[in-house]
Amino acid sequence: MSARPGLSYVGRFAPSPTGWLHAGSMVAALASWLDARAHGGRWLVRIEDVDGPRCIAGAEDAILRQLADCGLHPDAPPVRQSDRGALYAQALERLHAAGLAYGCRCTRREIAQALQARGLDRERHGDLVYPGTCRPGGPQPVPWPEARAVRLLTCADDGRDTVIDWTDRRLGAQRQNLSREVGDFVLRRADGLWAYQLAVVVDDAAQGVTDIVRGEDLADNTPRQILLRRHLGLPQPRHLHTPLVLAADGQKLSKQNGAVPVDTGRPAEVLAAAARALGLDLSESLSADAVRTEALRQWRLRLEQE
Ligand SMILES: [Zn+2]
Repeated sequence: MSARPGLSYVGRFAPSPTGWLHAGSMVAALASWLDARAHGGRWLVRIEDVDGPRCIAGAEDAILRQLADCGLHPDAPPVRQSDRGALYAQALERLHAAGLAYGCRCTRREIAQALQARGLDRERHGDLVYPGTCRPGGPQPVPWPEARAVRLLTCADDGRDTVIDWTDRRLGAQRQNLSREVGDFVLRRADGLWAYQLAVVVDDAAQGVTDIVRGEDLADNTPRQILLRRHLGLPQPRHLHTPLVLAADGQKLSKQNGAVPVDTGRPAEVLAAAARALGLDLSESLSADAVRTEALRQWRLRLEQE
């Protein structure tokens, strides 16, 4: 399982420039780099600045500098999602032409009210499960050219639920009933910004990414991305979701809850800590070069057992 004949490995690290890299994002960076190098593959960096208003000036340069300080050098110049809107628009048009994407004019309050009226108001996966008000053939279809927000239809042609089965290299067999647990999700937001899910699948395919290695907090959006790839006829990469680094209070580390940027002025320490979070056995006394070399040796051994 560690190599697929005839298909060369392409991996990526895809940070959002909403802050500097913290201990958790450093783990994802190192894991994706180790997996690419252990497979003799290419490692790319993609700046996920699709949510422009949340991006911070200077963060992209800072992230690239942090990676370089740690000796994690991409094999091609980084691409930026903010340069790629035309590709996302093409994908959206294809989904609409296939009857899979539709416009939605609902406000968040209207969605909450419609769900409440049906006795369903649970928030799942950080968002409300859309009640289908603007679906084609529903009570309030929205003419396409006027559509602002756009959603993906998640029920099958025959009205049945879409259940996605997939396998993670670390977590094993996974299943999600997308129709019930997530619902028709947004591809383009009402404010005109592209949704992360669409941008990611378009970019991964355009860059030939064969393996996605990222933090476990992103595992639950994998089924959405698998469905989008199916609909767009794009290849399905393999997935490896790495353990999360938790803050002292047990909360997930994130830029939003003030996770501290890692000080890559001491790259050996940063790399060794990230490697240990991945379950590798690294001593702090090594140089940064030696940490990378030893981590890579152990990662290769792990692949042999995968
Ligand atoms: Zn709607």
